[in-house]
Amino acid sequence: MHSWRRILSILALLSSAVAVPTSSSVVSAPAASPTVPYASDDPNYPLWNEDEDIIPEPIRGTLGASILGPQNIPLELQNTDNLAPPTTDSGSVPNFKWPFTLSHNRLQTGGWARQQNINDMSIATDLAGVDMRLEAGAIREMHWHNDGEWAYIISGDLRVSTVTPEGQVYVGDVSQGDLWYFPAGYPHSIQAKNTTAAGAEFLLVFDSGSFSEDSTFLLTDWLAHVPKEVIAKNFQVNISAFDEIPATELYIFPSTPPPENIESDMVIPNDTPMPYTFAMSQVNATPAPGGSYKVVDTRSFPAATTICSAEVTVEVGGMRELHWHPTEPEWTFFISGQARMTVYASSSQANTIDFQAGDIAYVPPSYGHYVENTGNSTLVFLEIFKSGLFQDISLTQWLALTPHELVKAHLGLSDAVIDSFSRVKQEVVGPTY
Ligand code: MN
Ligand code: MN
Repeated sequence: MHSWRRILSILALLSSAVAVPTSSSVVSAPAASPTVPYASDDPNYPLWNEDEDIIPEPIRGTLGASILGPQNIPLELQNTDNLAPPTTDSGSVPNFKWPFTLSHNRLQTGGWARQQNINDMSIATDLAGVDMRLEAGAIREMHWHNDGEWAYIISGDLRVSTVTPEGQVYVGDVSQGDLWYFPAGYPHSIQAKNTTAAGAEFLLVFDSGSFSEDSTFLLTDWLAHVPKEVIAKNFQVNISAFDEIPATELYIFPSTPPPENIESDMVIPNDTPMPYTFAMSQVNATPAPGGSYKVVDTRSFPAATTICSAEVTVEVGGMRELHWHPTEPEWTFFISGQARMTVYASSSQANTIDFQAGDIAYVPPSYGHYVENTGNSTLVFLEIFKSGLFQDISLTQWLALTPHELVKAHLGLSDAVIDSFSRVKQEVVGPTY
């Protein structure tokens, strides 16, 4: 593969060197004379992967030297491109990787929750995430918060509910690969069903980087801080009815699983104008040359006005193509496989970082990036955006559709090479070329 890439790049150089003006235009422009040197032809493959039985060293070609001080070899094996970055890397992009492994977990009877917000990754100003686990029957206490909440079910089955400011109700069931969305301030409930013995785990993403799972508004926490006689007056019942309300918050706690028949669990039939859950698991993935992808935004899930997503599959050796998102911050979650991303931040700033399943990446709007499958298994990840609409710009499509003389003037490519660029957005490209 390496030698093929070199041959292709040499051919491209030759073809640009022997290019003859074919047009009969009046003034034939001089061949592009470089005002800056050509970029290096050196490839910059990841130098090892986490499965290798080696002592990693910060050495790439003639650059670098061995480590004399302490080494954390497991971390260095996972973070190849931090220790021995590609020579194309430059400057320092604010850190855009956070492994949920490093989040401080909150253990409760019946489950746990760990989060990533701007305190963990300063670049992630617009989105935050929570990984939550509920055993069968366990409840995430009824609550609300200032930020919109989007969820993706990693495993298991759950029942959720909300009530709108108009007094309408929605109760829905979700399974692995499905979504829910609750607008900012809407009260909601989350409970794991007992259809799987283990219960459920799910990813929550919030449309603010400063969201904290520890600062939501909780039913029990509120009532524990209202004078009892006021509670009685509010509900118009005798004060003794509230003898057993908790003194402190419950947050996550075990309970009896909800009845399997969802209708039997409803006080009144759902009457919201639209559903607040979406069966993304039932959407057919769009095939791509190097994998496949599913996009779900307000075009199919209209309730989710501030967060949308793409579930992307990349086969071994393939990659999510070079692209950016015009106005949308991206919060990426790796579900399986290994990957690397280079994030280009303008001003000659570009850093490459490696990712494993369970890691989070964050890419600000307009920052150029790709996601390459660097492992030996299928890569699956979620791209989650603070937007109601999924949008991206494909570098390949941009170049394919722009007047070719312009593209040639920038990159010195041959007509044949430019003609080979896909005019259709591919999203995920294959390993072979
Ligand atoms: Mn919530
Ligand atoms: Mn992206």
